[in-house]
Amino acid sequence: MNKFIVVSFLILITIFIFTGCNNHDKKSKSAAVEKTIKETQANGSIVRKGIIDVAAIDKNKDGKVYECPMDWNVISDSPGKCPLCGMNLKEYTLTETKANLDKYDFKHK
Ligand SMILES: [Zn+2]
Repeated sequence: MNKFIVVSFLILITIFIFTGCNNHDKKSKSAAVEKTIKETQANGSIVRKGIIDVAAIDKNKDGKVYECPMDWNVISDSPGKCPLCGMNLKEYTLTETKANLDKYDFKHK
């Protein structure tokens, strides 16, 4: 009888530790994701999300925008550096930009 109690107790402790670890992992994971989202937003609005309105990004209506050749959803109307990878943004026509977005499965208007 004593042995049985000890064994049950050990199992309970194991379950407790295991569950505790899992919860901790989940918490730290979602915190990391939240941090990434916040950092991306803080880095500026040229990181486009959802359905990208390419024509609306071209505010000066010259038919050209600047896009990161690594992160196709990083689009700006003026030259600069990509906030995600630090590369210089490349000049593309609106048509080219839309083709790039199509190629890499980003949605656009
Ligand atoms: Zn980039």
